[in-house]
Amino acid sequence: MHELSIVEGLMGIIRETAGEHGLTRVTRVKLRIGAMRQVVPDALRFAFEVTGKDTVAEGAEIVITDVPTKAHCNDCGSDFAVEEFCFVCTACGSGQIDVTEGKELYIDSLEGE
Ligand SMILES: [Zn+2]
Repeated sequence: MHELSIVEGLMGIIRETAGEHGLTRVTRVKLRIGAMRQVVPDALRFAFEVTGKDTVAEGAEIVITDVPTKAHCNDCGSDFAVEEFCFVCTACGSGQIDVTEGKELYIDSLEGE
């Protein structure tokens, strides 16, 4: 379950950010997660529950925004959405593509008190 290591990384940022803003409790964490990350939302929430115990983020609501995978074709120049991990240009069929979106995994915002 790679969600646990993801959350451990995020928790460090959450603790730091909460400290910087003088928050004693984080109530909501908004995340942007790209489809390429293959994160299972339920597993991520569970990992937060476990990792967040006895921290500022205990019981925080986790809001996940999915970022679909997009790619750019280096042969014909078109930008397209990648469906079902099919990494082939939808316009010309080329495999010479760069993934431009869908790899993100970061904290969009934190709410607390
Ligand atoms: Zn193309």
